[in-house]
Amino acid sequence: MHKLAQLDHRFVWHPFTQMRDWLQSEPIVIVEGEGAVLRDVNGKEYLDANSSIWTNLHGHNHPRINAAITRQLRKIAHSSALGFANEPASLLAERLVRLSNPRADGSKVGSWESGRVKGMSTPAFSLSHLPTFNAASSKAELTKVFYSDDGSTALEVALKLAHEFTRRTRGGKARPKFLSLEGAYHGDTVGAVSLGHIDLFHKAYGGLLFKSDKVMSPYCYRCPFNRARPDREDARKYRKCQWECVGLVEKTFRRQRRKGNPYAAFVFEPLMQGAAGMIAQPSGWLGQVTSLARAYDALLVADEVMTGFGRTGVTCHVDDAAVARVTRQPETAKLFACSRVGVQPDLLCAAKGLTGGYLPMAATLTTQEIFDAFLGRYDEFKTFFHGHSYTANQLGAAAALASLEILRRRESVRARAVLQQTLAGELKQLWSLPQVGDVRQVGVMAGIELVRDWRTREAFALRERAGIRVCEALARRGVLTRPIGNVIVLMPPFCTTPVQVRKMISALVDSVKETFR
Ligand SMILES: *Cc1c(COP(=O)(O)O)cnc(C)c1O
Repeated sequence: MHKLAQLDHRFVWHPFTQMRDWLQSEPIVIVEGEGAVLRDVNGKEYLDANSSIWTNLHGHNHPRINAAITRQLRKIAHSSALGFANEPASLLAERLVRLSNPRADGSKVGSWESGRVKGMSTPAFSLSHLPTFNAASSKAELTKVFYSDDGSTALEVALKLAHEFTRRTRGGKARPKFLSLEGAYHGDTVGAVSLGHIDLFHKAYGGLLFKSDKVMSPYCYRCPFNRARPDREDARKYRKCQWECVGLVEKTFRRQRRKGNPYAAFVFEPLMQGAAGMIAQPSGWLGQVTSLARAYDALLVADEVMTGFGRTGVTCHVDDAAVARVTRQPETAKLFACSRVGVQPDLLCAAKGLTGGYLPMAATLTTQEIFDAFLGRYDEFKTFFHGHSYTANQLGAAAALASLEILRRRESVRARAVLQQTLAGELKQLWSLPQVGDVRQVGVMAGIELVRDWRTREAFALRERAGIRVCEALARRGVLTRPIGNVIVLMPPFCTTPVQVRKMISALVDSVKETFR
């Protein structure tokens, strides 16, 4: 075993890892990376098929980000945001505010939400008794940026701001209550875990958490309201339902209002829930539930830690014409999932891809209204009492500025469009495998759900480690990703070429065949 692998075995405790299993085999020690390729200590190359746990955007060792960090390093690496402003953090805040208010930057909202699903009947409920409210026309413009270090801390900040804002503006004694989605994952710090609803991760810490409510999320493939028989297509497309899931959201909000303490905030991952198992939302769902949340006076907290910075692709459907269109007008490619569907949140959390996957940094964006609720005389102590030592880190902010600049470039927008299109084409092969039950693609992300038999949707028991075994077979073929239970995640960096995508998918086909032979 390599010396570095030995040291790892002796001294390192890995996250979300059964260390008894870990210690059974020699770990892959990554020492270099370039573009979509990672290289280990023995010189073996791998495709980084999950962008180093969803962080990397433009590939490893990107010359522009490297240069930006080096330039910043010659000036200063870090100074405290407690008491001082700094250059890259100020510039970055302005950029983030501009990018997160797509109407303010002059571009049109996408038409994702307007598409009606063929064969769908009208909803089983009516919103007509509610004040008409369109989330897109909300006055909630994001104007302020609070920096922190990780997705979890970005959520802690949003949570505390929403809690305090609600207490201050609603008065009364009732404790502000939060609603999030079934299967929600918002990070691992105690507040973020309290908003989460993945029993496997969250149950053990029950005694540490505050209680938040959950509501059904639209998992079409396993939805009890979906009356369609399994088919060889993304379940969102062939489902037969009456939007009962939206009806349940409405009922949940109504029930809470009747208790005299309407939800303070609705917390959601827009368009796709990641750690829940790459659960993609059907077109129209997000617009409907965020309109409901607004009508019931809840703040919208968008967790864009995974979906932010172009991960949701360039347009809803990509064909050659769409690729040509966004390449001509790169400024129309939306960087946040919410912007894609015209939803304007009150709090937006960004992290993973913020620095292009280079350094840990996060941002919680919020509105003037929330900011103003924390203004007052010094001795009124309305201050937001929260902060981290590395808040507004200069190296991180410099990397983030460079990353945002790359994202806006014509070549990057084109690369994302081509990657989205290539993935859509190549993923089709997977339908020939009986162990593939559902393939869910949103932009340049995809989840492939493995089942014992597609005709019955019967799931593999977790102890069979189906996802892990497929990913081990993938690693032997030079493709690295990490499963979520029985779901294989593909989320390659934007620089991944069509040839590399084809290699990834054919390795996946071979790995599934080998594993279930
Ligand atoms: C990863 C993730 C988080 C947590 O971010 P960390 O940087 O790991 O703390 C929160 N929300 C979502 C949607 C995520 O994917």
